[in-house]
Amino acid sequence: MSQSGGHVVIVGAGHAGGTAAALLRQYGHEGPITMIGEEPIPPYQRPPLSKAWLKGEADADSLALKPLEFYGEHGIDFRASVTATALNRGAKTVALSDGSSVSYDTLILATGARAIALPIEGKDLAGIMFLRTAADAEALKATVGPGKTLAVVGGGYIGLEVAASGRALGAEVVVLEREERILARVACEALSDFFTAYHEKQGVTFELGCSVTGFEGKDGHVTGVKLADGRVIACDAVVVGVGAHPNDELAKDAGLDCARGVVVDLDARSVSDPNVFAIGDVAHRPMPVYERMFRMESVPNALEQAKQAASAIVGRPRPAGECPWQWSDQYDLKLQIAGYAFDVDEILVRGDPASAKFAVFHLKGDQVQSVEAINSPPEFMMGKLLILNRKPVDKAKLADPSISMKEVAA
Ligand code: FAD
Repeated sequence: MSQSGGHVVIVGAGHAGGTAAALLRQYGHEGPITMIGEEPIPPYQRPPLSKAWLKGEADADSLALKPLEFYGEHGIDFRASVTATALNRGAKTVALSDGSSVSYDTLILATGARAIALPIEGKDLAGIMFLRTAADAEALKATVGPGKTLAVVGGGYIGLEVAASGRALGAEVVVLEREERILARVACEALSDFFTAYHEKQGVTFELGCSVTGFEGKDGHVTGVKLADGRVIACDAVVVGVGAHPNDELAKDAGLDCARGVVVDLDARSVSDPNVFAIGDVAHRPMPVYERMFRMESVPNALEQAKQAASAIVGRPRPAGECPWQWSDQYDLKLQIAGYAFDVDEILVRGDPASAKFAVFHLKGDQVQSVEAINSPPEFMMGKLLILNRKPVDKAKLADPSISMKEVAA
C-alpha cells in the first residue's frame, strides 16, 4: 500500500469530501485522515433536499452518505461544526475556527459552493431562504404548505424542483425569472417550453423577463417581491435560486491558481501545489471529452473527482475518462442530462414532447455534444456513450424513435 499521502486532511465534509475519505480507506491508504466540516452532520446527499426530502418522502438518516459511526470505525477523524479559516502552504497547516490547527502531508479541498444572494432592498427579511444545506431545507419545509404562497426567484433546475415540491406540499407557487424563458442558461428552447407547460398544468405561475428589485416586508417578515415594472408579487416565503459561487477563498488567499474554482489537473491536483487537491463544486477541472476546463456542480462530478484524487494519493491508475452527467426530478418527470452543449450547430428532438417521453440531442456536425432525456433512459445511456466515444452519428436514424438507440449507437 502506498503511504505517499501521509496525513490526508480533507476540508469540507460534503459529497466530494465524504466520498474521498471513504475511497482513500477502500483503496488502502493507511495513514491518518482528518475531515473538517463546518456543518454539524456527517456528509450527506443534497439532491433530495429539493425533491423527495422536501416533500417529506425521505427521512434525515436516508440523506447521509454513511452513518456517523463509519468514520470512527475507519479511522477517519471527522470534526463537525468546525470551519477551516486559513491555509499555510509553507508550513502545511490548516487553521481552524476552534483556534486549533492541523498539519497535513496532503490536503484535499472539498469546500463546495454556496448559494448566491441578491444584494437588494429587503434581502435580510425573515422568510427569504436559500436551498443549499439540510438546515435550509428544514426551514423551507417548515414554511411552505396549504394556504401559503411561495415565490421562487430563478427558474433553473433547483428553482423548478422547489416549485414542484412546493406544489406537492399544497402551496401556491410563483416562479420569477429574469430571462424570457426558464432554464435559459442550461437548456434549449424546446425543453424550456416543455417544462413551462408542465409546471403550469400543475398550477405553477410564471413571471418571465422580470427583474426583481427588492423585497417588501411587515414586522420583519417578507410579504412580497418587488419587480422593476412596479408590481409587487405577494408571498409568504421566498426561495432565491439564482446559482452558486465556489467556496474557493481559502485557496485564493493561499495563492493557489483559481478561475472561479481551484484550477486542477486530471488527477484533481492543484496546478500550483502538488500537495493540494481540489474536488467537487469548488474545482475548475479539465474535461478531456470537450478539450476544455470548466467547473461543474453535480454529484457524478463530485464522485468522479473524489476517485481521481484518492487514486492519485494512493498511487492507483487514473480512472478512465468520463462523460459528465446529472439529473433533475420534477413531478413524475425524470430528466437525465449527459454532456454539455458546447459549440452546438444543430438540435434534434427524438420522440414527441406531448407524450412527456422524448430526448433533445445537441449536435456539433455529426457528433453528439449533449442529450437531455425526459423519461427516456435508453436515449440517456446511449447518448452518454456517443458523447464519450466521439462517434459520428447517423442523424436520420437518431431522429427516428422506431429505430432503437442501440442500433443508432452501433
Ligand atoms: P458540498 O456537497 O456542497 O460540500 C461542501 C461542504 O464543505 C459543505 O458541507 C460546506 O459547509 C463545507 N465547507 C465549505 N467551506 C468550508 C470550510 N472553510 N471549512 C470546513 N467546511 C467547509 N447534483 C446532481 O447531480 N443532481 C441533482 O439532482 C442535484 N440536486 C441538487 C439539489 C440541491 C438543493 C443542491 C444544493 C445541489 C444539488 N446538486 C445536484 C448538486 C450536488 O449536490 C453538488 O454538486 C454536490 O453536493 C457537490 O459536492 P461537494 O462536496 O463539492 O460540495
